[in-house]
Amino acid sequence: MELEKYYTQLGIKPEVFQYCQNIADELKPRFDMIDEIAEVNQLKVIRAMQNNHVSDYHFNPGTGYGYNDDGRDTLEKVYADVFHTEDALVRPHITCGTHALATALFGNLRPGDELLSPVGKPYDTLEEVIGIRPSAGSLAEYGITYRQVDLLPDGSFDYENIKKAINDRTKLVTIQRSKGYQTRPTLSVSRIGELIAFIKSIRPEVICMVDNCYGEFVETIEPTDVGADLCVGSLIKNPGGGLAPIGGYIAGRKDCVERAAYRLTTPGLGKEVGASLGVNRSFYQGLFLAPQVVSGALKGAIFAANIYERLGFEVVPDSTQSRHDIIQAVVLGTPEGVIEFCKGIQAAAPVDAHVVPEPWAMPGYDSDVIMAAGAFIQGSSIELSADAPIKPPYSVYFQGGITWYHSKLGIMMSLEKLYEAGLVTLK
Ligand SMILES: *Cc1c(COP(=O)(O)O)cnc(C)c1O
Repeated sequence: MELEKYYTQLGIKPEVFQYCQNIADELKPRFDMIDEIAEVNQLKVIRAMQNNHVSDYHFNPGTGYGYNDDGRDTLEKVYADVFHTEDALVRPHITCGTHALATALFGNLRPGDELLSPVGKPYDTLEEVIGIRPSAGSLAEYGITYRQVDLLPDGSFDYENIKKAINDRTKLVTIQRSKGYQTRPTLSVSRIGELIAFIKSIRPEVICMVDNCYGEFVETIEPTDVGADLCVGSLIKNPGGGLAPIGGYIAGRKDCVERAAYRLTTPGLGKEVGASLGVNRSFYQGLFLAPQVVSGALKGAIFAANIYERLGFEVVPDSTQSRHDIIQAVVLGTPEGVIEFCKGIQAAAPVDAHVVPEPWAMPGYDSDVIMAAGAFIQGSSIELSADAPIKPPYSVYFQGGITWYHSKLGIMMSLEKLYEAGLVTLK
């Protein structure tokens, strides 16, 4: 078969190819459903662009203060339309997802306020933002306290303790949609809606913020469609569609977005300043492509789940579960397994395929981390990438793939490396 020949040229053994190809064939009906979601989201994005009269001149670079940077302002209106919110802040000056989240938190919390996470520990890099791990300039240093209620062992919300945790200082509730570096289930948008409704029934004025990283366009609705006051994410993940070279977004209630903008720039100036430089075209075009790109990444995640589950590994989500983010966790159980998996992802890349990833101490993480990525945009995790903290249970978190075919090759290559190292038997 011709296809097999091309995989062989890239180093995939015939038995690995056949094992994977059989699974890919079985998944076709499931992939049709993913394509339908992408279609809905594609129409949503096009409509938002049309409604806001996106024009060629919006791609021109703004400079200096960026007053009246119409390309930037229109893009923010497009985001607000896609998320069905009053306003949005979409900027290259937001350096990453953590920065977007920190900007929303610092902008909306004041000394004496309390922040609550009702879904367990937030993403590792937020620990220093909040002050869970002490850090200079954390929310804790500004007298903002933090409370956390873990999910119950079965993954459901601990409503009783959430109710107890909400008090008259609770100003903002942060809900992380994606599992991050944990093996808990990712929250569906509808479950997030139930949680927000519960919180608002106790204290309507509390700001509900969702860390939407990796969740955008996975479903046909977003957290802001089910009551979230703020939705926050990174442009080098889903909504940047692989083209955005930097950036983050904060979409939501006008007052909350404005306070975030006052934090990002300065009180008074807010959204009025911040030149878009030359990135507008990639922000627009990336958003335009994002629904399709996310669907490719999702197919890769489902493909990986099906392969590794059949080989006997625990996978989260499992092979049949519904999807609410693009992350696939595979519990490989050993440091060697994690390292070989990451080598495979690296070896499948269009860029830097010849380098070998190794575990390393990374800022913001409390253990060594191995990261595999051969990306056009440094660190972009909507591009095919895998990372794993080198600590039990030795799970690897795999995500991205600008195209389904690249994700597919990456997963096949990961299996190839595990197979060559004698860590799996094909069954
Ligand atoms: C990626 C991610 C972040 C942080 O984003 P960075 O761009 O890496 O700073 C925060 N929360 C979740 C759930 C993420 O996946």
